[in-house]
Amino acid sequence: MRENKPKGEVIFVGAGPGDPELITIKGSRALERADRVIYAGSLVNPDLLKLCRPGTPCHDSASLTLEEVAALMIEGTKRGETIVRLHTGDPSMYGAIKEQFDRLDQEEISYTVVPGVSSVFAAAAAVKREFTLPDISQTLILTRLAGRTPVPDREALTHLAQHQSSMAIFLSVQDMGAVVEALLEGGYPVSTPIAVVSKASWPDEEIVVGTLETIADKVNTAGIRKQAQILVGDFLDPAGGYARSKLYDPTFTHEFRQGKET
Ligand code: SAH
Repeated sequence: MRENKPKGEVIFVGAGPGDPELITIKGSRALERADRVIYAGSLVNPDLLKLCRPGTPCHDSASLTLEEVAALMIEGTKRGETIVRLHTGDPSMYGAIKEQFDRLDQEEISYTVVPGVSSVFAAAAAVKREFTLPDISQTLILTRLAGRTPVPDREALTHLAQHQSSMAIFLSVQDMGAVVEALLEGGYPVSTPIAVVSKASWPDEEIVVGTLETIADKVNTAGIRKQAQILVGDFLDPAGGYARSKLYDPTFTHEFRQGKET
């Protein structure tokens, strides 16, 4: 056993999409016992910090570099602290967590991850839709337009659009015209329904619905430029109807229920 191995730990926690009630019980318990919190201030609801014990140091990572975040973690865990790293939504989507894990691995600091409700699911809840309707789509693509972070060519929106599956596009509402152009070029018909959900689950949540023909103007008029999910596909408004699920079909037998002939 090494003598000076740090005793503290880091817990990466998904804060959920905004509504403080949408953090998990496990995530909220981690905040309650944290000695220090590093939170992504641009998107995490600051009300969640009220779950911490009074006086708990809370650092907004918006103004910090990876090196500065890592230094807080390394120094803190050396003192035996439990540090919560609070990320918006679910940390595994655009969370830049792997580079933090790698730094912690180098220092042999132990860490765990508590998942969170991603904004993609908060957006689906806001519009009250199911991504996976039988006969419409059984696939959900989560993606983004290239920004300062490039997207590999093979994953360009035009390529992904060829599947005409249900799609949720992060980090791209500021470029709505380019999103629509790529989706059309890829093969979605111009009548394809599309919904833009801004600040899903926050008090000022906003929903704009339209088609690929109308949405760019509507989003422009609404003035939505950031923190929005773009949901695309016939699951939003299946014009030709959709098939019922087999799971709840009275004639369908499965592991937990004997179907009846009608
Ligand atoms: N890990 C986060 C995503 C972080 S990337 C998650 O799982 O949700 C930031 C992007 O997520 C934003 O540009 C926006 O596209 C989306 N986003 C985050 N919070 C949102 C919210 N409350 N409503 C709509 N979109 C949101």
